[in-house]
Amino acid sequence: MHEPAILVTGGAGYIGSHVVKQLGRSGRRLVVLDNLSTGFPDAVLHGELVVGDTGDMDLVRELLVRHRVRAVLHFAAHIVVPESVRDPLKYYRNNTCNTRNLLACCAAAGVEHFIFSSTAAVYGIPQETFIDEDAPTAPINPYGASKLMSEWMLRDLAAASQLRYVILRYFNVAGADPEGEIGQRTPEATHLIKVACEAAVGRRPGVEIFGTDYPTPDGTCIRDYIHVDDLAAAHLQALAHLEGGGASTILNCGYGHGYSVREVLAAVERVSGRPLNIRETGRRPGDPPALTADSRRIREVLGWRPRHDDLEFIVRTALDWERALARKQAAEG
Ligand code: UDP
Repeated sequence: MHEPAILVTGGAGYIGSHVVKQLGRSGRRLVVLDNLSTGFPDAVLHGELVVGDTGDMDLVRELLVRHRVRAVLHFAAHIVVPESVRDPLKYYRNNTCNTRNLLACCAAAGVEHFIFSSTAAVYGIPQETFIDEDAPTAPINPYGASKLMSEWMLRDLAAASQLRYVILRYFNVAGADPEGEIGQRTPEATHLIKVACEAAVGRRPGVEIFGTDYPTPDGTCIRDYIHVDDLAAAHLQALAHLEGGGASTILNCGYGHGYSVREVLAAVERVSGRPLNIRETGRRPGDPPALTADSRRIREVLGWRPRHDDLEFIVRTALDWERALARKQAAEG
């Protein structure tokens, strides 16, 4: 009989694939469930990949039982904010309804530990720029709302069952595997560091700054960028916390300080050694001026310590990945 496996939904995606790599390295048995709508099979470096939908209850039930799953890490989700505004029901189906179905299967199969990928978008436009986990949740778009509803389901199910959870609220995730094996592959990406690195390697003509009149030192928005490998490590520590009997909790994932858009672009120019073609445009609707995580709780509860709290390192790994991706795509024709 095999040791129980960990089920990782969305493990072929950007963050999920980095967590799969670290979990696989640590010797855990993994089953990855991904419908490959935005993921890539070759990003799954460990475990068994099952191509299917998180909302497919027959499939999920069968996987949980066959692999004697005790722990689930749930990454599978749509994540594009403007798309969620245009097509909200797509987000409520894939992010909320599918999480509900997954949780129902977990409850029936006696899954004990659940780690959920949530987002700082649940805070909406906060009053404070330094946000702790007790700040009011008030999402301003369907993406954030779809994730917050999943948080509520998880909280309520845990109160009514043996299930314990860690909800991780991600701030601005960026960078790539320092060993260069995996990274973010999203076509038509919208995230600043990815976009700027694409421009730096010539895959885009340039990059726009969305708003230069914010009440910040240089007029551009400030965000808390966290390296994807530090975020992945937080998942392994969250799992160890639950497996060691730790209580359910909600944890912000960020470094606790931020950089402005101009600072990020300057770092990309320094690391690439080339000036970017930068155009200043108007504000993007719904962008708060500054958003940084109060990350004291994750440090206290998990003992988490970032290893890559360094903007240039984040940018370097993102840029290396972008170059590797360009070569890979050129080779594939
Ligand atoms: N941003 C920008 N140009 C871009 C993409 C993003 O100026 O091409 C800004 C955006 O307005 C925000 C910050 O960079 O202030 C981070 O945006 P991103 O979309 O990366 O993450 P978000 O904070 O929206 O989750």
